[in-house]
Amino acid sequence: MPLTGPISTGGTFFCPHCGALYSVTHSRLPRSESNVAKCVVCRQTMDKWDSTKVPTYKLIHRPEDA
Ligand SMILES: [Zn+2]
Repeated sequence: MPLTGPISTGGTFFCPHCGALYSVTHSRLPRSESNVAKCVVCRQTMDKWDSTKVPTYKLIHRPEDA
């Protein structure tokens, strides 16, 4: 499979507070100390979960007026 796309796996997620674009992948962890995802741009809680299937957010694009 050629690597031609900018985003190869997972989905995308927009911060509901500032609109920053993240790519999302999920990992299975036996234990997690944190169950919230905080936006690195606006530092507000974007998402929370309650299981061992932990999403990982990677910032792709900052909002224009951050
Ligand atoms: Zn944000």
